[in-house]
Amino acid sequence: MMFRSTRRSGAAVGLSVAIEKGLAADGGLFVPVTFPRADISKLDPGNLAVFGAGLLAPFFKGEPLESKIPALCAEAFSFEAPLKQIDDGLHVLELFHGPTAAFKDFGAGFLARFFAASKKEAIILVATSGDTGGAVAAAFDGMPGIDVFVLFPDKGVSRRQRHQLTCWGPNIHSFAVTGTFDDCQSLVKQAFATWKGKRRLSSANSINIGRLLPQVVYYGASSLQYRAETGRPASYIIPTGNLGNAQAAVWARELGFPIQNITFACNANEILKNYFETGRWEPKQTVATLANAMDVGNPSNMERLLDVYQSPREARHQLEAFSATDDQIRDAIENAYRRWNWVVCPHTAVAVHDVLRRERPDVTVVATAHPAKFETIVEPIIGRAIPLPPALKAIEGRKEMCKPLPVSLDGLLEELRKAD
Ligand SMILES: *Cc1c(COP(=O)(O)O)cnc(C)c1O
Repeated sequence: MMFRSTRRSGAAVGLSVAIEKGLAADGGLFVPVTFPRADISKLDPGNLAVFGAGLLAPFFKGEPLESKIPALCAEAFSFEAPLKQIDDGLHVLELFHGPTAAFKDFGAGFLARFFAASKKEAIILVATSGDTGGAVAAAFDGMPGIDVFVLFPDKGVSRRQRHQLTCWGPNIHSFAVTGTFDDCQSLVKQAFATWKGKRRLSSANSINIGRLLPQVVYYGASSLQYRAETGRPASYIIPTGNLGNAQAAVWARELGFPIQNITFACNANEILKNYFETGRWEPKQTVATLANAMDVGNPSNMERLLDVYQSPREARHQLEAFSATDDQIRDAIENAYRRWNWVVCPHTAVAVHDVLRRERPDVTVVATAHPAKFETIVEPIIGRAIPLPPALKAIEGRKEMCKPLPVSLDGLLEELRKAD
């Protein structure tokens, strides 16, 4: 199975090469040349690891690691993604049962095991709006031959997110950038364009197809479960920032899984909502919000989204987007708790806001993080303490290590050379 650039120049490559490169040579993102139609009837959604191996098998066909994919999936999908019913017409897909309590643990865990299995040395460079960096750091912590550089916006992450970005071993290098997530992302892109070190620079951002594909797994499995339970296809409301998670749902639908509507739930960074309303793609400066992992003014996976559809008009036909303000996020946290005794993180609350507006919902809210990660926001609203999940408890007392970094390519390159 081959993968090409969204910008359509250059030769198509196999999946291992696409994962190792991260970004195509022309600056585009890797996408499958054609989508294999998954033989859905043969896949059992009951066991995520086995289901994942079956789903991913066609993508890895003929690759050096083909035979290792079942073992790799067994390790990467060692935690659950439960689909729970909250009310009539309302389900939640909980994606926060991994080591750093956010959905990024799926993609990051898979990518790390891929690197371990292929025994390649690399420096992984990652920009994070809050949760990616922690998931990637946790997944690669202590891995031989790999150094991880994490760039996060100094003022843009919660206390617990910061802890998860900075509490790891010596192969994890954390940098608090005096800028926004978009600044971090731009530094990473520039570093990729200029790096000439001994070791290869690899990306672990959601632009890396090695993170995206494993995310398709939980959409595939949960959509089959939903149909088995209700007799209907699933419709997802997905908290969206850089469009990595939602893109996986779009691909799951392309693969033929029973998925009806896909709604992008955005915070005050309204670029997607504006695009769906006006057809114009106008990246903006990032606005800081309560749902900080979604503070993205220029979502990089948009190229992949537009690659799926023949025209922007078709994309707007197939998808929906809305945005919620911080006040609406607070209201949604409060209402979810009052009405259903359901505690949601500020990102998940953006999706809940949409549910509350619907008269007769038939939707699945995608819960992207555990609310305990954002306790300073959620606890005062619901008026009680949120118990820490076991994964977060396990790293609570660790020492934090991180350096400040100005928005400067030279500064970053100097740090990279030191570790090379
Ligand atoms: C990263 C993240 C998002 C946004 O996901 P994208 O793939 O960037 O769209 C939403 N919620 C949480 C908790 C996240 O960590």
